[in-house]
Amino acid sequence: MLGPVILAASRSDRMRRMVSAAPVTKPVVDRFIPGETVDEVLPIIQGLTGQGLELTMDVVGEDITNPAQAEAARDAYLELIDRLRPLDLGTRAEMSVKLSMFGQALDGGHELALKNVRPVVEAAAEIGTTVTLDAEDHTTLDSMFAIHEELRKDVPQTGCVIQAYLFRTEADARRLADSGSRVRLVKGAYKEPAEVAYQQRHEIDKAYVRILRTLMEGEGYPMIGSHDPRLISIAQELARTAGRKLDEYEFQMLYGIRGDEHLRLAAEGHRMRVYTAYGTDWYGYFMRRLAEKPANLRFFVRSMVTK
Ligand code: FAD
Repeated sequence: MLGPVILAASRSDRMRRMVSAAPVTKPVVDRFIPGETVDEVLPIIQGLTGQGLELTMDVVGEDITNPAQAEAARDAYLELIDRLRPLDLGTRAEMSVKLSMFGQALDGGHELALKNVRPVVEAAAEIGTTVTLDAEDHTTLDSMFAIHEELRKDVPQTGCVIQAYLFRTEADARRLADSGSRVRLVKGAYKEPAEVAYQQRHEIDKAYVRILRTLMEGEGYPMIGSHDPRLISIAQELARTAGRKLDEYEFQMLYGIRGDEHLRLAAEGHRMRVYTAYGTDWYGYFMRRLAEKPANLRFFVRSMVTK
């Protein structure tokens, strides 16, 4: 019940200022966002890959207000890619981007986001890795899918995310399950109205399984973005039934959530990718993590009142 309230707060500037300035916030944020700079996250990347895990890196930020910020976002990713080059990790370290950070919501935003994200996708391809376009709220998705299609003309391995809670997603999955596609399926993290999205957990879970079956039976590369133990074992079963080998799909989870499970799946021979966010503009990302699990919020509030 608290989830929708926190998600509404994730879009409030007043809350952003309050939460970001509170001195007790930092230790709680660190659990999910392990650094603010490339220098801080490079050792984390090396530590996780050393344990047999793979990563997708997110420079946090969204809902920017001017084109200069969109260019700064592009440059932050280009710097990261440049620093990854000598490590020669290939697809073991890929990138996830939010198009809102590349200017999608500004005037002429569709073209602006495409213009800013293209050099990142090209630079990633140059060092042998890929970019996945995150899915944001439902009003942004037609533009995201059009940008994805455009980018794939030159860099076919560019990935995208689909959200099981949206009614539209079953059709999107059928369209995207083609050869060479890389599609991450998640439940969905935004506050969406009943006109476009399932509201009940069991409905979302059932949709997740239907969509995952489509992806597993298709010709693309499914990426299972979930921490849900039930969905993870269903995914393994669906992969077996579809005759997929262990390297023909992968699991993805967020940094700081169910770390033991990351290692367990990797030890079983699965590809396990850890979505690792870093940077200074962590507010929206952090609030969505609180909304997903009330215990996180209790921990956060307790740390505020006991300090
Ligand atoms: P849940 O039923 O929410 O969680 C299952 C169990 O996992 C919980 O019982 C709990 O033990 C643990 N858990 C889950 N979340 C948390 C948390 N925050 N803190 C502590 N424990 C937790 N959403 C989008 O809308 N767009 C995206 O582009 C996107 N990308 C994602 C990328 C990855 C790799 C992942 C894993 C998620 C992404 N999400 C994205 C978020 C996703 O939509 C869900 O909000 C989130 O994954 C929680 O759903 P779940 O499948 O883990 O299941």
